[in-house]
Formats: sequence, C-alpha cells, structure tokens
Amino acid sequence: MRKIFIDCPEQIPCNPCVHICPVGAITIEGSITNLPKGNKELCTGCGLCVAACPGQACFLVDTEFKEGFASVDFPYEFLPLPTVGMTVKARDNEGQTLTDGTVEAVIQRESSHQTAIIRISVPTKYAYLVRGIKPITDFVKAL
Ligand code: SF4
Ligand code: SF4
Repeated sequence: MRKIFIDCPEQIPCNPCVHICPVGAITIEGSITNLPKGNKELCTGCGLCVAACPGQACFLVDTEFKEGFASVDFPYEFLPLPTVGMTVKARDNEGQTLTDGTVEAVIQRESSHQTAIIRISVPTKYAYLVRGIKPITDFVKAL
C-alpha cells in the first residue's frame, strides 16, 4: 500500500502538508520551522500532500507494488505530461538518473492547479531514492 515518505530538508516556516492531510498523518512538533514527520500507520495514500507541498518534498512509496518493484508517487509540474506505460528516467534528489521507470498513473485534480502526481514503478531498491523523472521534453529532444 502507498504510504507517506517525506524528504523535507529545510527548516523553514512551512506547513501546508500538515493542514491538507485529512487524517492527521503529518505533524510538526513544536516550532513551525521544525521538520514534518509522516505517520505511515495513519496515512491512507490519498496523495493530497504530494501535490500541496510547495517544496515538492512529499512522496508516496509502495514497496510491495509488484514482485521486485516499488511504486513512487511524486509531484510533476512540466508539460507535456508523461503517459501511462511510458518508460522514463527516474532521478534522485540531485537530478541524477538512477534507473528506468514505468509510468503507472498520471493523476490530475482540479484542486491541485498546475501540479500533477505521477506514479512510476522502479526496482524496489530505488523505492526511497527516487524523487522524480527527467522531464519528458528533455527526453524527446534527446531521442
Ligand atoms: S497521502 Fe494523504 S493521508 Fe497520507 S500523509 Fe499525505 S495527505 Fe495524509
Ligand atoms: S509542505 Fe512540504 S516543504 Fe512545507 S513543511 Fe511540509 S513537507 Fe516541508
């Protein structure tokens, strides 16, 4: 099952993730500049925080997506959007390509304005390393 994974490195006054979560699965203890914590037990995998986080620091990870593969949901603000079934370059938090991934879902909600959520599958060992993909525009130009 998809569960919250937060990679929020900067201690800045920010908390949309806390307010948008309908089940209280994200908390910031004490000062608003402290880092948020995600509670996997409470998280329902709705994805609202993924699209709402201005720092693109909220992800959903399912380490049991299918045998040998995990799924990772991340925010995506480029156009064109990828399409389901497309092979993409999965990148880490420094923009380095880790592995190929397969697009499993493209989720757009009216409430999320310009931010779509992309779900890709990758080999399980990359589950907590993937932060996004190489934008499709770059991908097309490189072909
Ligand atoms: S995915 Fe939904 S339930 Fe889980 S932490 Fe984010 S907003 Fe809360
Ligand atoms: S909304 Fe995003 S950047 Fe802001 S505290 Fe939450 S995880 Fe960090």
